[in-house]
Amino acid sequence: MTYPPPTSRTQHRPAPGVVVLMVAIFAAPPVGTFYARAAGAGEATSRGEPVRVRFRDAAKQERTVEGRVEVEAQDGGILLLGRDGRLWNITPDRLNQRERVEGNFRGMSSEESAAALRAELGDGFEIVRTKRYVIASKAGTRYAQWCGALFERLYDTFHIHWRGKPLQLEEPEVPLIAVILANEKQFVEFAARDVGPQAAAGAKGYYSILSNRMILYDLTAGEGSTPAKTLEDVQRKIAQNPFNLATVVHEATHQIAFNTGLHTRQADNPLWLTEGMAMYFETPDLNNRTGWKTVGKVSDGRLNQFRDYAQKRRKSNSLETLVATDDRFTNVDLALDAYAEAWTLTHFLIKTRRKAYTEYLARIAAKKPLEFEGGDKRIEEFREVFGDLEKLDRDFLRYAERLR
Ligand SMILES: [Zn+2]
Repeated sequence: MTYPPPTSRTQHRPAPGVVVLMVAIFAAPPVGTFYARAAGAGEATSRGEPVRVRFRDAAKQERTVEGRVEVEAQDGGILLLGRDGRLWNITPDRLNQRERVEGNFRGMSSEESAAALRAELGDGFEIVRTKRYVIASKAGTRYAQWCGALFERLYDTFHIHWRGKPLQLEEPEVPLIAVILANEKQFVEFAARDVGPQAAAGAKGYYSILSNRMILYDLTAGEGSTPAKTLEDVQRKIAQNPFNLATVVHEATHQIAFNTGLHTRQADNPLWLTEGMAMYFETPDLNNRTGWKTVGKVSDGRLNQFRDYAQKRRKSNSLETLVATDDRFTNVDLALDAYAEAWTLTHFLIKTRRKAYTEYLARIAAKKPLEFEGGDKRIEEFREVFGDLEKLDRDFLRYAERLR
């Protein structure tokens, strides 16, 4: 079964106790205009073909983008991956010209990406480059450097954590981009232009699947405070509010997971899986400069929220509703419980059924972009990997009871 995905979805990640909102913005194609060609159904798919495409974007602006065709739609539309990492969903009526480019697809180099960001964003931004990241900052170079070091450490930790079969982590094809605004006001203005005024409301940062960028702001910037002058200064300020740091790590985990082949952008990724993954990594350890010893640390807030849910509101089919659709995450009244359950389920599966969990990850990651099969299929896949849901649910609840 195919169902047209909504035009855009926004996930707020409420944290129990403290109001910290985090957002991953998953913008899906317009309803009814785009159907992916099923690979293996006897039709050639042209993924990998480097092209130069002239088209009008959704705002009717003329663009020429070099990239790779990710998906060919039956009606002639394409999903194009630009060399900067941005995805363009181009319907046939907006497609003006498409030509083959010599050679293989190559993502932008770090230098090219830096130059492109300078041209796009203007002089107000300083560019800081690390091994894998290109950071455009209005929050000064110190803060950007501090974030860059944090991202690289997280990246290495993530790789070490998930390497090995059946997962095959890849190096990112494109530089990983972060835009850091100087303060919340700038962030709100930027987000309104980038993803719409509502999408990032209340958030402290987001990762956009379409642009492939993290948009953040200087969390050390308070009323009348001066920008951090040294890295130690940043560290000290951040340590005063670790919940803010969790936002940054959460969004950075989304970006890494979507760029190393652990998830596939614009595919039917169950939100419990992608959000569970980001939450699993979001407990940082500022005292540990070389590693990330706290991956998978118990989140007391989420566990308590889940226990409260399990006692008072949880129905016997809760796992099914969590897996089948993303509705519980997008409903403000249900989201807190959904995130808590996703965190607890992820913790339970990684700690007690790691092999099955990684098999499931690999299976979801193998899905093609823009193919949405529906809730029954999601349940079926989940059951095939994790077995009988009633037994799983019993084990899960017992685990949550005993977890410390
Ligand atoms: Zn998230």
